[in-house]
Amino acid sequence: MAGRSKKKKNYNLINILFMKTLPLIFDAHLDLSMNALEWNRDLRWPVSEIRESEKGMDDKPDRAKGTVSFPSMRQGNVGICVATQIGRYVKPGSSLPGWKSQEQAWAQTQGQLAWYNAMEDAGEMVQIRTAADLEKHLNLWKSKPAAPPIGYILSLEGADSIISISHLEKAFKYGLRAIGPAHYGPGIYAHGTDSTGGIGVKGWQLLKEMDELGMILDATHLSDESFREALDTFHGPVWASHNNCRALVNHNRQFSDEQILELAERESVIGVALDAWMMVPGWVRGVSTPQNTGVSLKHMIDNIDHICQLTGNSLHAGIGSDLDGAFGTEQCPMDLDTIADLQKVPALLSEKGYNENDIENIMSGNFIRFLKENLPE
Ligand SMILES: [Zn+2]
Repeated sequence: MAGRSKKKKNYNLINILFMKTLPLIFDAHLDLSMNALEWNRDLRWPVSEIRESEKGMDDKPDRAKGTVSFPSMRQGNVGICVATQIGRYVKPGSSLPGWKSQEQAWAQTQGQLAWYNAMEDAGEMVQIRTAADLEKHLNLWKSKPAAPPIGYILSLEGADSIISISHLEKAFKYGLRAIGPAHYGPGIYAHGTDSTGGIGVKGWQLLKEMDELGMILDATHLSDESFREALDTFHGPVWASHNNCRALVNHNRQFSDEQILELAERESVIGVALDAWMMVPGWVRGVSTPQNTGVSLKHMIDNIDHICQLTGNSLHAGIGSDLDGAFGTEQCPMDLDTIADLQKVPALLSEKGYNENDIENIMSGNFIRFLKENLPE
């Protein structure tokens, strides 16, 4: 009897250590369906097997260099994420990749939705539409079952695929909860990264309807003019799923200090991203490497720290890794092999002087609080 109870005690100790060393991670930006359908990756496979299957392929720069799959997410306790649909419309003559009509872009996002649904049917994912769904999912992960489904909040990166307001209503019904009106370049509803201009009448209408439905505005990728107009027009909850700081890398894709402070005033949370060019100045795609620039998770900590120092607390920074967002280990921090390595972040924050409560806020607490307050009940 004594032996048995001792064994049980040890087991509990291991369990406590396990929980202590692996906090829950909320990743606010993963293009999972894009990887499944455009990169032809079965995310149920281990990352190593996906890489193996892509050896010798050269259709995309990040072939055999992916970092995300469900087993790696589970290994890193990344139990909940914001997962995207994405489909761009481009005008004739545009150099950006995209569809020639909004209807094609809509169809693309419906394919992506079908993949998410198939992953739910397979028990790999579960959609979080309401505050009650969120609570239930957090409790499930706390109970540590063997291979729990990854919880996801559905978001749309670039709203071009929304053909009309009735499509927006349809999307809300199938679980879409957040929209970033623009991506790269000029869009139907707003101007995005590397373009200049406001939201126009269509953007205004979209934001009014999003307000009406109780959706979340994702301020990521908005041009400065569109950022200004969107925040003035939209009165509901705003977050930035994957965005770094202009003070550290000066580019229009990054937030100025004024923008960060304004977001904090709106009780927003900003997910810090891991695309190397957003972390070290002067990155040249295809020339710079993690090794010759020395980009590491410390640069991510610098972005988190900048947001926390500027706002005076740890309530507005989170993680929006964007891992496998059309880049892999060739453009990642050199101390990250797979998404599971996000578990190195707590120790780095601790080194920087952050306490346990701050670290929990950043790893998951801030986005969870935001969603508890802003998802439908
Ligand atoms: Zn993006």
